[in-house]
Amino acid sequence: MPMKIASSCENCGLCEILCPYNAIYPAGVNWRKIHNRYFIFCDEDLVHDDFWSPAHCYIVPDKCTECLGKYPEPICKTACTKNAVMSDNVHWESEEHLYAKKEYLETMPGWM
Ligand code: SF4
Ligand code: SF4
Repeated sequence: MPMKIASSCENCGLCEILCPYNAIYPAGVNWRKIHNRYFIFCDEDLVHDDFWSPAHCYIVPDKCTECLGKYPEPICKTACTKNAVMSDNVHWESEEHLYAKKEYLETMPGWM
């Protein structure tokens, strides 16, 4: 499953810099206007904007692979000193799906 950021986030921005798929956005930013191209990977009916936050950094589930195949653990969770990053049980995905997403993101032209 992808990761999510809780309200204990203090908006330091470290996780945003470290994310290999640019899945983390600053508080209040409209991710659809910036990088919404990957939205086609998941069924739009299954991915809503409930992850968005005006108060703290947030993770777009459609772009989070849990860092599978990149790092032993989600790098955003490892780096966060506020313990603000956790598993997102609402947007559950199988490991197979996460690897398929990774492949998709890495083959997209200009995926960064
Ligand atoms: S989740 Fe943690 S690392 Fe990311 S911006 Fe918030 S405090 Fe910083
Ligand atoms: S788990 Fe990895 S891919 Fe997902 S948001 Fe964190 S750093 Fe990005």
